[in-house]
Amino acid sequence: MVANDYEKMLDSAYEQLPEISDKAERFEMPVLKTIVIGSRTEIVNFTASSKHIRRDEKELLKYMSKELATFGELSGAKAEFVGKFGSIAINDKFKKYVNRFVLCNECGKPDTHVVKVARQEFLKCEACGAKRPIAKT
Ligand SMILES: [Zn+2]
Repeated sequence: MVANDYEKMLDSAYEQLPEISDKAERFEMPVLKTIVIGSRTEIVNFTASSKHIRRDEKELLKYMSKELATFGELSGAKAEFVGKFGSIAINDKFKKYVNRFVLCNECGKPDTHVVKVARQEFLKCEACGAKRPIAKT
């Protein structure tokens, strides 16, 4: 086997990996796949990832744009951001979002939704019934 074939094989093996990391966690956090194209950064599995955490992609886009302090827009199933961002930085912001707006503090499950009571947002868990306020910052 020549080196080139081996690299191709590695590439295709990598593509077949599920978009999931850290199986020890109760919740399987999706990993955002990013590519830098010119001076823009694309998250190629953006829509699929927001579906996985059951949150609106526009809400997630708004959050990511704010956190990355740049302009972002949806483009089909992808999201595009102005500027070059590394995969680690992007996934770090995404994890923060999931911890704050998706995961239940009590049981660690992602089966939650946001309820608003008198201008305060709460995260209500459908699995265990726990409710916690969502921090404003
Ligand atoms: Zn819960």
